[in-house]
Amino acid sequence: MTENSILQDIFNNSNRLPTLPGIAMKVIETVQRQDAALDELADIISTDPPLSAKVLKCINSPFYGLSTKVTSLYHAVNMLGATTVKNLALSFVLVKNYNNGANGFNFTNFWRSSLICAVAAKLMTHRLMPKFAEDAFFLGLLHNIGILALTCGLPDQYSMVLQEKDKEQGSYHEIEDQILGFNHMAVGEYLVNQWGLPPSFSIPIAHHHCPEKLISDDSDIHSLTRILHLATYYINIFHRDNITMNLGQLEHYNEQYGLAEIIDLDDIGRQINEQTRHILPLFRIDFSENKDYMEIIESARNELINMSTDFIYQVLAQQREIEQLKQQVNLDMMTQLMNYHCFQNVLRQEVYRAKRYKSHLSLIMTDIDNFKSVNDQFGHLAGDQVLIEVAGVFRHSLRESDSVARYGGEEFAIILPETNLEGAMLVAERLRNDIAKLRIKTENAEVQCTMSFGVVTCAGSENTHPEVLIKCADDALYQAKTTGKNCCCTL
Ligand code: GH3
Ligand code: MG
Ligand code: MG
Repeated sequence: MTENSILQDIFNNSNRLPTLPGIAMKVIETVQRQDAALDELADIISTDPPLSAKVLKCINSPFYGLSTKVTSLYHAVNMLGATTVKNLALSFVLVKNYNNGANGFNFTNFWRSSLICAVAAKLMTHRLMPKFAEDAFFLGLLHNIGILALTCGLPDQYSMVLQEKDKEQGSYHEIEDQILGFNHMAVGEYLVNQWGLPPSFSIPIAHHHCPEKLISDDSDIHSLTRILHLATYYINIFHRDNITMNLGQLEHYNEQYGLAEIIDLDDIGRQINEQTRHILPLFRIDFSENKDYMEIIESARNELINMSTDFIYQVLAQQREIEQLKQQVNLDMMTQLMNYHCFQNVLRQEVYRAKRYKSHLSLIMTDIDNFKSVNDQFGHLAGDQVLIEVAGVFRHSLRESDSVARYGGEEFAIILPETNLEGAMLVAERLRNDIAKLRIKTENAEVQCTMSFGVVTCAGSENTHPEVLIKCADDALYQAKTTGKNCCCTL
């Protein structure tokens, strides 16, 4: 199943997903219409007097530092432009509508972080590409909306993520990938697409922790993504979270993105400190800090100098290695299939999904027949090659939504989501045929082999445990072996 259809599935089944209130939808629609008059936007926002009052209060606050007082929304859109007013209105609507919920999620902290990121993104964008500065504010505010969607849409699983985050140093997206199989960047992208926001929002959100993975011809989107990535470091710095390391990485990426000449990080930090003081209370979020920002940065910088730049590079190289190791942890090196450890996780997730959506789930256990004699007759290296080619057959003839793993030795496991027994037997029979037809050329011989298959299915309505499913598939495989091999059996 592709990531997008998994998300669609989850969200179609959840009624707790953040939806945009009607007024926000109207605001987005109006701004995107070419023919919309400026006054139309003011008309829409005026239908909500408390919202209009908040927008005006913000525009007249030191955050905007205007010399004349703006007295009406019509005045505001004409003076500051539709983008500013739109983004402010949407920001107030979002923060007001999503500020409480179940499972102990700290909404105040969430929005405080998002607002720090919003201010940071706006300030940096203002230096680099001023016409996008106002959009960058809203982008920063939205960048972690996937976290909010997950905590509202999947409260049980997400509380596992939050517990794990409390226990270890890892970042949210890494822990989400481990537990859920996808992360808040993908969810955020999905959500803002649903809301009808343009790619200049969805793409940076989808890559804010991994801008290096972005493939796009649009240089503005590239710059916005990089700025958003930089802005996320300020969140940690302002939360006094490992300041020295975060400052080091912020400086490193600022330089790597070629922005060091344009963006003075200290100056941005000072202004974030100043501006969040004004803007947080407007969103009814307290600015719970009394220590001087520059004092903290000074001491972090002194520490950084002592660490030397080599150290930062070492840490970044280590992070990349850890990333590679994490991938290897899930792979069987010889066949490049999922390994036993990864299989167990995927099966657990799929059993959970089958129960949740009351769908069928099938499992096939399969084992090469008389493999010992292949090794004895042709040598261990030829045996290895047989394993690699068998893995290739599985990989190519299964659907994208299916998962295949090397369970151990010459035994493989195949997970078939949303597949009933009849379908799974057809798949097993097809694979059995493909393997039997395979001619594997080794250095000094052509090797043929056959495989036996054990097939089982659980209906999502049953309370099946992954271990029980494995045990049943193993029993069915044993039957296939005892009935003469090169066949498919079920219980
Ligand atoms: P059966 O039809 O009952 O499955 O018989 P079998 O010979 O396939 O099963 P058995 O369990 O007796 O032997 C499995 C063999 O697989 C023994 C082991 O050396 C070999 N094997 C396991 N892992 C590897 C590997 O990575 N490479 C090679 N070449 N052989 C392996
Ligand atoms: Mg994030
Ligand atoms: Mg065998």
